[in-house]
Order: sequence, then structure tokens, then C-alpha cells
Amino acid sequence: MTRQSPVWHPFFQHATEPALPRAISSEGAFIHTDRGPLLDAISSWWVVTHGHNQPQIVEAIRETAGRLDQVIFANVTHAPAEELAEALVEMTPAGLDHVFYSDSGSTAVEVALKMALGYWRHEGDGRHRIAVIEDSYHGDTIGTMSVGERGVFNAAYDPLMFAVDRLPFPQGDGAETLAAFEALAASGRMAALILEPLVLGAGGMRMYDPAVLAGLRAICDRHDVLLIADEVMTGWGRTGRLWACDHAGVAPDILCTSKGLTGGVIPLAATLASRRIFDAHRSTDRRRTFYHSSSYTANPIACAAALAQVRLWQDSPMQARLDDLAAMQSCHLSAMSDDPRFENARQCGTIAAIDLKVPQGGYLSEVGPRMRAHVMGQGVLLRPLGNTIYVLPPYCVTAGDLDRAWGAVASFEV
Ligand SMILES: *Cc1c(COP(=O)(O)O)cnc(C)c1O
Repeated sequence: MTRQSPVWHPFFQHATEPALPRAISSEGAFIHTDRGPLLDAISSWWVVTHGHNQPQIVEAIRETAGRLDQVIFANVTHAPAEELAEALVEMTPAGLDHVFYSDSGSTAVEVALKMALGYWRHEGDGRHRIAVIEDSYHGDTIGTMSVGERGVFNAAYDPLMFAVDRLPFPQGDGAETLAAFEALAASGRMAALILEPLVLGAGGMRMYDPAVLAGLRAICDRHDVLLIADEVMTGWGRTGRLWACDHAGVAPDILCTSKGLTGGVIPLAATLASRRIFDAHRSTDRRRTFYHSSSYTANPIACAAALAQVRLWQDSPMQARLDDLAAMQSCHLSAMSDDPRFENARQCGTIAAIDLKVPQGGYLSEVGPRMRAHVMGQGVLLRPLGNTIYVLPPYCVTAGDLDRAWGAVASFEV
């Protein structure tokens, strides 16, 4: 009898899951474990963009760590945070002129919600309702769960969550969603609309048309509702462009980024806001201060890692790389579409997803864990969302690696 580990793993059922392999090292698209290499076909939960242990990012961490570690960010500032903020303002859609740092996607979203509510309060307007799109995911803290889809993941915490206004997921031209939002926005009570632009990740890699995003932006403009783009998963090239918002030519009032911000090497998040939101908090009246911080805000080592990541976008042909990867994914998806066991093949840039036809879909579909075990046996790491299988690889993945990932999926016996 082996001793049980005290570790409680996330999104992991300890009663039914087998013992885990141990990661020893990671490089490029692979995690090397005590049981052999694993192709990381989901970028370690969507964080790894360029590849594991990207040399320039690792070097930036090494160099900074020997010189400057965590320093309080309220009383001093530092070059990595300043330079990164300049770069983020430059690289994000127009009008996002202020950068607030935190540590994770969830905190970036919490900050965004607080900025939006703070904005309206300081403007002397009582708006406080938040509109959301059904099936969205924005994190696992109480606030981010409140604006996300309710279900098996969070039913136990329902008494703690605040009420929001839900829009139907945009199907086709999104007419129903746009009409529902128009009616809500016209009420004059909406503080903000928060959404995942183009791709609902945890909600099952559901995708919608950029024109719908542009339409929602237009409604926000007409009724003065703030648009919060949660680009935590979609940012840094995932959708084939630097930001998902770029596909629609949309600039949100607030943008959240984390996951790929450091290339997935070390935790960091940023919430970018437009000038009017910053200005509403800037005052000789100290009650208007943005009272939010986390202990590790703007950790210099993490900021240096992010800056090295940003330099990769500035100095290497990233767009060409994304286009190549998208083309490879597209070939695999069209091959899979001919397989009668699958349906709903869909793609947005580097993200490719397909559903296994099963009588009972949904997140708890038993086919998910079976598919996961099957591909793991072939050295491929995937985490199906119910019966939705998706491949979301680091950008350094080779054609051979992708063949292996999709080959493992195709060899599954339903
Ligand atoms: C992962 C994710 C989050 C939460 O990020 P964490 O770093 O896990 O807190 C928020 N929004 C979206 C869209 C995400 O995919």
C-alpha cells in the first residue's frame, strides 16, 4: 500500500483518478515525466504559448531574479513593470492606456469588475448590473463564478454569488443575442458587459462570429455600457491574431490578460483600462482611490518574463507561425470531419475542436475521461470538456507532433 499524497489536485476527482505521473522537466511542446514524454496538446491548461522553457523568457527570469525580487508596488515602481506597461498599451487595441497588475486570470477579471463598478459610482451613476453570455467562464473565485455559467462546478456556492443578466450564446448572426442585449442596455442599469471574445473556452470551445462582437460593441456605445473583454485564454495569438478583439476591430473599455502573458512560464496578469475609467478614480478625494492589491502585484521577475514574451512578438515572425499552425489544424479537422463518430468541427486560429457523437453530452459525459486515458496511453495530454475534444497546442508544436495528437484521438474506440 503506497502512502497517500497530501496534495489536493485541482479539477481532479481523487476517488476515481489513477496515480499521476511526475513531471521532471519540460521543453517545447513536451512534459517529460517519470513514465516518459507527454505531448502537451492543451498547452498546460492554455497558458503555454511559445513552448515550455522558452530560452529568452527563462533567461529574463534568471537575470532578474539575481538582481531584483518582490518589492512593494505601492511605494516604489520598477523598470520591468514600467516597460511592460508601455508595451501592453502599445500592443493592445486603441484607448487602453492604463495597466493594473495582478496574478491570475481570476484576479484580472475581479479587478475589471471592480473598475467598472467603481467607475459608475464615481461618475455618480447608480448602474451596477453586469451582463454576461451564457456558458461563459471567467474564473473560479466567487466574483468570477458569479459572472460565469452556473452548473455542476459551482452549484454548492450559489448562495454566495451575485445576480447577473444573461444573454443567449450567439448562434449564427447572433440576432437573438444582440436583441436581448439591446433591450437590457436600454434599461440604463447596465454597468458592463463581460465576455470572452470569439471563443468560450471552458464552456466547450464554443465559437461565435466576429460580427457579433462588433455588434455588441456598438450597443455598448449607444447605451454607454462598458465592454470588458476577458482575453485571458484568447490573448497572445490563440485565435490567430494577437487579440481576439482584433478580428472584429473592436476596442474594449477594459481588457483582461493572463495565461500567455508570460508565455505560460510564471504567473502574472494585467487588466488594461481606458482613460475615462482611470480618470474616474483619480481625484483629490481619497475615497476614489482604486482600493485593490494583491501581495505579489507586478512581481518584477514575472514582469521581466512577460517583457521577454512581448519581445518575441516584436522581434520574430509570430503571425507567420500562427498562420502555419492554423493551416495544419485546419487539415486535421477536415480529415476528422469525414469520420462519422465526430461532429461540429470548429476552429478559431490555433484552436481546433470537435465533438464526439454521444447519446449524453455535457461536461460529465463519461466519454471524456475515457478519451483522456486513451490518448494518455499514447503519450498525448488532452482534457476533453465532456464530449468536446480540442487541441490547443504551444505554437512551437511540429507537424509530426500534431499528427500524433490527432492520430491518438482518431484511434479511440467509442
Ligand atoms: C483560465 C481563464 C480564467 C481564469 O484564469 P486563472 O488564471 O485560472 O485564474 C479567466 N477567464 C478565462 C477566459 C479563462 O480561460
